[in-house]
Amino acid sequence: MIPSHDSDSRIPSVAVIGAGPAGLIAAETLARAGYRVTVYERMASPARKFLIAGRGGLNLTHSEPRAPFLARYGAAAEWLAPMIDAFPPGRLRAFAEGLGEATFVGSSGRVFPRSFKASPLLRAWLGRLEGLGVRLASRHRWLGWGAGGALRFETPEGEGEVACDVAILALGGASWPRLGSDGGWVAILEEQGIAVAPLRAANSGVRIGWSDAFRTRFAGEPLKRIALAVEGVSVRGEAMIDAAGLEGGAVYAQSARLREAIAREGQVVFEIDLRPDLGLDALAARLARARKGETLANRLRKAAGLAPAAAGLLREAAFPLPAEPEALARRIKAVPLAATAMAPLERAISSAGGIVRAALDERHMLRACPGVFAAGEMLDWEAPTGGYLLQASFATGFAAAFGALQWLNRPAPEAWAGPWAAGDESEMARDDS
Ligand SMILES: Cc1cc2nc3c(=O)[nH]c(=O)nc-3n(C[C@H](O)[C@H](O)[C@H](O)COP(=O)(O)OP(=O)(O)OC[C@H]3O[C@@H](n4cnc5c(N)ncnc54)[C@H](O)[C@@H]3O)c2cc1C
Repeated sequence: MIPSHDSDSRIPSVAVIGAGPAGLIAAETLARAGYRVTVYERMASPARKFLIAGRGGLNLTHSEPRAPFLARYGAAAEWLAPMIDAFPPGRLRAFAEGLGEATFVGSSGRVFPRSFKASPLLRAWLGRLEGLGVRLASRHRWLGWGAGGALRFETPEGEGEVACDVAILALGGASWPRLGSDGGWVAILEEQGIAVAPLRAANSGVRIGWSDAFRTRFAGEPLKRIALAVEGVSVRGEAMIDAAGLEGGAVYAQSARLREAIAREGQVVFEIDLRPDLGLDALAARLARARKGETLANRLRKAAGLAPAAAGLLREAAFPLPAEPEALARRIKAVPLAATAMAPLERAISSAGGIVRAALDERHMLRACPGVFAAGEMLDWEAPTGGYLLQASFATGFAAAFGALQWLNRPAPEAWAGPWAAGDESEMARDDS
């Protein structure tokens, strides 16, 4: 038997499995309530995905008002709303501040720690957890349950079992599996009769069959300030051309729509507006003013203001190009591209799918496994990038711990008394693009 904790065995013990943000916030909440908490993590160190999330600027949450914020979770919004209300963006910002990392609202409305990084926040958090008596058992891969109902782990010393009073599962989704979350838990839970919606790529790129010439010349080039329209819904942002297709914020924001259309039809045709800030007439007028005898390449560069990659995309997708200004402007504002597949799940920022809502009771406990709660990206919700992923991971982790306390008939943690989303207007000028 693996010892779950060395201190007082009369205090109920909690096993949290998965040391990502959902697991760690659950561990903190239960440790504060007086429980002996051990966090089991398969990797050698905790929260690797959280650390990678901080590499390009840790986008903790978003400053937008409650209604549009919750709408980002689509079909899962109603399910997540009470959890996010109990642990809203304002609370997540206060949490970061309490760890010495004050936050700011960037020009896009997204919220970041002042250092922009995840590592100082994580370091301070792990120190605080240690002070609360939380034990971290790394290199412990959860394998399921033993015959007597104990948790089974693979450890460097071999297989072992852990008995506990409550378990919180927070094993993440299945994107970037080398960081630890590989979706290996799906088979374990399905064996228990727990319904899991298939894990699929979310916030992921699309595969496009570029010509060799386009791929060689433009792979790695950004498409800045574009709008990407799928089935009549348009999103502004950036995209990145890569050898196999398109990646980047605007594509990620549309990835659920793209993925579902591909699943339904086998392919999806979407459109890129290369000049979303200019109306059709204004763009056509500019193209009409071009000098006589000017080459098409020059007209696209000077009159339409297209970067070489944008002009290359236009030629790749819509050749031959019309010479007449209005027809050309129409093409620039709706470049058609066909995708037949999403980039693989391993390369996605996050995953859709997971434990379905009906498998959990109102305390977030698995109906099939009394005393076992679940949280984080392993639940069946998805959201675009913009801080919504971490916000829901924290909120569901907190909710699972709250549910465990209810189940154990223990007092609930204190209610959040601060604002739901506090936008620090003085910081809005800081550019986060
Ligand atoms: C490149 C990248 C950038 C991102 N940037 C952002 C961002 O800026 N903002 C944002 O909101 N979100 C971002 N995300 C998403 C965000 O990091 C995740 O949604 C979030 O970490 C999910 O939290 P979680 O605790 O549910 O799961 P995870 O963070 O995945 O943690 C789960 C943990 O469980 C462990 N585990 C898995 N299986 C087992 C097992 N069998 N036994 C024991 N342990 C196990 C894993 O090793 C892992 O440590 C980004 C993701 C990526 C990949």
